[in-house]
Amino acid sequence: MPACSGKQFIERINRKRREIWYGKDRITTNAAEHPAFRGIARTMAALYDMQLEEENLEFMTYISPKTGERVGTSFLQPRTSEDLIKRRRMIKKWADFSAGMLGRTPDYLNSALMAMASASDFFGNGMSERIVKYYEYVRENDLLLTHTLINPQVNRSVGPSKQVDPFIAARVAEKKSEGVVVRGARMLATFPLADEILVFPSTVVRSGQDDIPYAFAFAIPVDTPGLKMICRESFSEDSSFDHPLASRFDEQDAVVIFDDVLVPWERIFILEDPERANAVSESTDAIVFMAHQSTVRELAKVEFFLGLACLMAESIGADQFPQVQERISEIIIMRETMKAFLDASEANARINKWGILVPDYTPLNAARNLWPRISPSLCSIIRQLGASGLMAIPPEDILASEATKYVEKYYQSKMQDGVERIRLFKLAWDAVGSSFGGRQELYERFFFGDPVRMASALYNWYDKEPYKKLARELMKGK
Ligand SMILES: Cc1cc2nc3c(=O)[nH]c(=O)nc-3n(C[C@H](O)[C@H](O)[C@H](O)COP(=O)(O)OP(=O)(O)OC[C@H]3O[C@@H](n4cnc5c(N)ncnc54)[C@H](O)[C@@H]3O)c2cc1C
Repeated sequence: MPACSGKQFIERINRKRREIWYGKDRITTNAAEHPAFRGIARTMAALYDMQLEEENLEFMTYISPKTGERVGTSFLQPRTSEDLIKRRRMIKKWADFSAGMLGRTPDYLNSALMAMASASDFFGNGMSERIVKYYEYVRENDLLLTHTLINPQVNRSVGPSKQVDPFIAARVAEKKSEGVVVRGARMLATFPLADEILVFPSTVVRSGQDDIPYAFAFAIPVDTPGLKMICRESFSEDSSFDHPLASRFDEQDAVVIFDDVLVPWERIFILEDPERANAVSESTDAIVFMAHQSTVRELAKVEFFLGLACLMAESIGADQFPQVQERISEIIIMRETMKAFLDASEANARINKWGILVPDYTPLNAARNLWPRISPSLCSIIRQLGASGLMAIPPEDILASEATKYVEKYYQSKMQDGVERIRLFKLAWDAVGSSFGGRQELYERFFFGDPVRMASALYNWYDKEPYKKLARELMKGK
């Protein structure tokens, strides 16, 4: 099946017999109908439908080299700058739909898989055919992937083999003729309704020789026997008036447990190989395409915050105050910075050693390091501008009560009637203050991994020599 529709996606999700734990509920089939998932499942379905709409079809899909049918653009292995622009346009279309609130739209991991398949020789040992086959399978069936990269947060002062139990972190337990048995856990996996889960190495935390049984990369369907996902409390709410974002965009996050999961050989891409595990995301340029996708998403988010801040300030007549303008200008600067990173990455794209056109990683690496630092300011600006207005947001059903007359009079703003103003401030609260908003802030801090270790990685990767030379020359008075 080529690029799929929303209906096909929901049917597929409901058919799978998985094991998701939501409190005491064990969800197996019909997962998309559970109250914790109904909203997000419909949202993902809407994204799938979007790619098939007439005005989007051309740039959101392309012709599969294998079947001649249309498949999603995020699978496109770019060779020309037009291809890169097409990829960005497609990513932005999806990101705008959720104001950048969704981290696991299919394009994120499709981009990583696309890059890994193009660099299939990296995997070696007969594994290269497997990654290409898997990429084609995901592309031709338009599957939605999640991933889980991090070991459980039990004791960070020692590695996985030195924990109180060496099977806390997921590791190889046994090798059989059919495949490898994996036991232990990983955290987290955002969007447990996905079709498949990539169990890959972290892009930040490195493995050593002690970590051999933990150093692997594989992909399995979410309905593989023994695979369990334990969800956090849902932030999804039914009322789109009261929770305009949470009602549609709560992706959910789960701890993933491998209770002796048999991973078939054809789905194993790296096994007991710390060196390859440490190198996979950079050597294949998967990290670059992930950073490109997420910078587009972050641009969409910052643009939403810019619009939101302007509407709030104008709504209550605060837009004329210099300190309000100063703070909104901060968002403008953030928007222009993220856009400049993207433009520069595309303008300086080069054909990599695997033969595809890769955006320049330097500005994208700067973007992924800058974003966790600047994104909390977006929330603080909205809180500063909204002030007590962020608490003057009564539940929707007040409008059906006799108190509605007070809403009309006392909740109006300079620019809006009472109901419109409440809608605007509820949107703001959901973005920065509700459980959903709090999770968003945390997500942006840790989206690409621990920002502290990402900064060290940048420090070690970046070519500082030309600037040291400059300083040395000035030191000598030249
Ligand atoms: C909302 C949300 C969704 C997520 N979704 C996914 C997902 O879909 N897939 C996925 O794989 N991951 C996901 N993650 C996990 C994400 O990858 C991690 O949060 C991130 O990699 C940081 O790891 P950690 O949370 O285990 O923090 P830890 O590594 O436990 O760090 C905790 C604190 O200790 C410090 N610290 C710990 N160890 C060290 C060290 N060795 N050196 C210096 N400082 C250290 C850190 O700086 C940090 O301040 C998600 C996280 C969040 C918050």
